[in-house]
Amino acid sequence: MIRTTLEKIASWTGGEASGSAEIRGVSTDTRTIQKGSLFVPISGENFNGHHFAEKALENGAAAALWGKKETPPPENLPVVYVDDTLHALQDLAKNYLASIPAKVIGITGSNGKTTTKDMVASVLGTTYKVQKTIGNYNNHIGLPLTVLALEEDTEIAVLEMGMSGRGEIELLSRIAEPEAAIITNIGESHLQDLGSREGISEAKFEITAGLKKNGTLIIPGEEPLLTEKTARSGFHVVTFGQADTNDYHPLASEQQKDGTHFTVNQEPDERFFIPVLGSHNIHNALAAMAAARQFDVPAESIKKGLKLLTVTGMRTELVEGTNGVTVINDAYNASPTSMKAAVRLLQDLEGYRKKIVVLADMLELGENENTFHFETGESIDPGKIDCVFTFGRLGRKIADGAAVHFPEDRVAAYEDKQELIRALQEKTADGDIILVKGSRAVKLEEVVEAVIQ
Ligand code: ATP
Ligand code: MG
Repeated sequence: MIRTTLEKIASWTGGEASGSAEIRGVSTDTRTIQKGSLFVPISGENFNGHHFAEKALENGAAAALWGKKETPPPENLPVVYVDDTLHALQDLAKNYLASIPAKVIGITGSNGKTTTKDMVASVLGTTYKVQKTIGNYNNHIGLPLTVLALEEDTEIAVLEMGMSGRGEIELLSRIAEPEAAIITNIGESHLQDLGSREGISEAKFEITAGLKKNGTLIIPGEEPLLTEKTARSGFHVVTFGQADTNDYHPLASEQQKDGTHFTVNQEPDERFFIPVLGSHNIHNALAAMAAARQFDVPAESIKKGLKLLTVTGMRTELVEGTNGVTVINDAYNASPTSMKAAVRLLQDLEGYRKKIVVLADMLELGENENTFHFETGESIDPGKIDCVFTFGRLGRKIADGAAVHFPEDRVAAYEDKQELIRALQEKTADGDIILVKGSRAVKLEEVVEAVIQ
């Protein structure tokens, strides 16, 4: 983490120091702040971080950034006065990162950012000192905090870049100035705000704003919205995906209970393994592999890194219940692309008595939300899935779509979580597998917990 003086922080943020202090680390949260940290009060619509300065001091803050227009800070708190504490935090991160040798790999996309980040870090970690975004700290506040947590001797920083609207990825990319950038895919998340898939692809493409001139851009080769843009970009472009027109594509793959084996055109003699399921995860691994090769990681180390991968929870996580029921816990989040990918994964799995899907609302899809839900339901194959359970008002549209191909008695829609849980407990037995997926706000992990008991 950053270790410096208040004076240096003033020069990096263009602010004015009042008092002096030695700083170790940066925090925006007085509840978790560590001794010696710089406290950065952030103000939102309904709160003002400056009001928590006493608490920060009490919990060990050594100093703080301070908005010039705010009421004066506590007397015994050294501060750097700045125009805007959030901008100052971002400037601080940018300048700190430029002052250490770490090279950056930036990752954005509609789905699979965190998974791909974990894969890239695991693979590069075999050869370099790597630090990565903690959890999902991927936005205009989280990314600067991740950067400021980097040790000075970090060789490679793997940074997830998320967004809530246009311009955010550009901001993050300019802070991080990556050597390599990965766009995992273009889906439908944020359709409500960005209007169209073209709008989404433009927002993701902002990751090139800060990409180093001779940097590498790693993209899915079967996404025209991206390939058209890259053709004009002048970056070194590497593609990945299913078709053999991609620079990195799978030759063969085999799904097993504990993960996926696959081979890749670039290393035809190696058999790779990832401890996660689904062809979407092979694609994430291909992107990670492409990034690793840019940093000269040998195939054998890539293989080792992928095998040792540990992913952040609730993303296609296989959970075995004591009652013999297996759950694919994908309750972390959902969009049409990721929901279809998860259903496809379950369709391909073999060796279970019954295969059941529990699918809930996908939020923030904009005016065509009903159609997206209906189509997702319609795409489920009744030859490969036994029952479709849905939850929520929009979930009901998934059930309506499923009913196009499924007989009535194999589809059920619920709007009460307890009722859904009771129905699942009644209808499932030893040897069954259940996929559980819905948007974050729906909290389907409550269903997962109930059915594996
Ligand atoms: P967030 O925007 O919430 O940070 P994320 O982009 O980091 O999400 P992950 O957390 O890695 O995405 O994965 C979320 C879910 O997306 C997974 O559980 C899986 O169902 C799905 N997913 C992962 N990778 C892909 C992919 N390449 N294509 C489609 N769906 C994917
Ligand atoms: Mg994420």
